Amino acid sequence: MRAAVEQGLIGADQPVVGLLDVAGIRAAAAELWAAFDEVVAPGTPVLHAFAVKAASLVPVLRLLADEGIGCEVASPGELALARAAGVRAEHIVLDAPAKTTAELREAIELGIAVNADNPQELARLDALVRPRNGPGPALPPGPLGLRVNPQVGGGSIGALSTATATSKFGVALLDPGAREWVVNAFTRRPWLTRLHAHVGSQGCPLELMAAGVRAAYELAEEINRAVGRQQIDTLDIGGGLPVNFGSDEITPGYRDYARLLLDTVPGLFDGRYGLVTEFGRSLLAKSGTVLARVEYAKSAGGRPIAITHAGAQLATRTVFAPESWPLRVTAYDWEGVAKPTGPDGPVAQDVAGPCCFAGDLVAVDRPLPELKAGDLVALLDTGAYYFSNHFAYNSLPRPGIYGFSVTGGGSGSRKGHVRFAPVRSPQSLDEIVAESGGEHMGALSGL
Ligand SMILES: *Cc1c(COP(=O)(O)O)cnc(C)c1O
Repeated sequence: MRAAVEQGLIGADQPVVGLLDVAGIRAAAAELWAAFDEVVAPGTPVLHAFAVKAASLVPVLRLLADEGIGCEVASPGELALARAAGVRAEHIVLDAPAKTTAELREAIELGIAVNADNPQELARLDALVRPRNGPGPALPPGPLGLRVNPQVGGGSIGALSTATATSKFGVALLDPGAREWVVNAFTRRPWLTRLHAHVGSQGCPLELMAAGVRAAYELAEEINRAVGRQQIDTLDIGGGLPVNFGSDEITPGYRDYARLLLDTVPGLFDGRYGLVTEFGRSLLAKSGTVLARVEYAKSAGGRPIAITHAGAQLATRTVFAPESWPLRVTAYDWEGVAKPTGPDGPVAQDVAGPCCFAGDLVAVDRPLPELKAGDLVALLDTGAYYFSNHFAYNSLPRPGIYGFSVTGGGSGSRKGHVRFAPVRSPQSLDEIVAESGGEHMGALSGL
């Protein structure tokens, strides 16, 4: 925090920034590799694809690619980001519930993996894989699969639970006739070689995720028996490892999940199936921090309120669903030095954002060192889904994002040196005007 202040990343003219710990991201990627390397049979093809929606920032995708991690994309925009980061087609997986025919065609032409969501999408793939008219051989597709909803139930956050009975994703496996339909669909399509299940994200217990993976595995076994060969050669187990937002501890870890999978679905790792994972939050959350200035400190109805520059435009889910998305907040003085608690102990206060609605609060009645105008607050564990899921309320600009690394330091009085690199420039006012129809200024007057 001190270095961010000293090096001018945050100040009166840039009152909020996002910071990303490059070493932390690398360490998370290494953990992921190590955890699954320990359980898969030697030689098993493994693709870890980062869910781009968790941090849709090209330099982050590039850093992860350097660590051998690909991309899971769910829109043409996310695909464009993955390609801009130089991620190879073989390392990209396209999942999305509403892919258009043009998107499917592009994916097939590029040779990226596609997981179809439903029977209608599969029918579109039929037409693309084997064009009905026109000469020439069928297009050489990348790996194609089908997403199933194992309907194993939801976690503690309904909006992020994708394996409930009525979830909108995938083919609902327990619905009457669905399983037979799926087996038949694979029997009739020798090119359909993958099954995909993503049970949910934050709030889903590991046991629930593992139960969903087991359901997908058992279905793959049934299909392969029915067709008499290893037609399904790869299982895509999705992402969803929950993140601990309550402390610095990384729990659960990838190893906990990989070992649970080994116990629950041993056949998954015996070498017959390639593996795809799609983790997002767990790769980035702990490596990100939002740092924001306290513009004013006031009081209302006896409640101290710090008005900061980080609110719903950045911490959208935290503001609108605070029970599901609590964040730790830490306090610093204007130089970025951690504020000590005063002699009377911490002060319960609201930490508010800059948006013009009353509910724009990232913390309510939170005990903290008393915040003053000019102080800084940090929102911890915000590396995933905070820098990429902004909200354009009040036309607030998207803040600049910087990666950092620390060299030297350690014992004695020697301080480490912090180097920053830009990840995303702060949004300019011109850009806000441009994305708000600036070029069409007179359009309505002329109608
Ligand atoms: C969002 C999503 C992920 C990533 O989930 P995390 O909880 O961030 O790990 C993976 N796969 C699919 C299909 C998703 O929709």
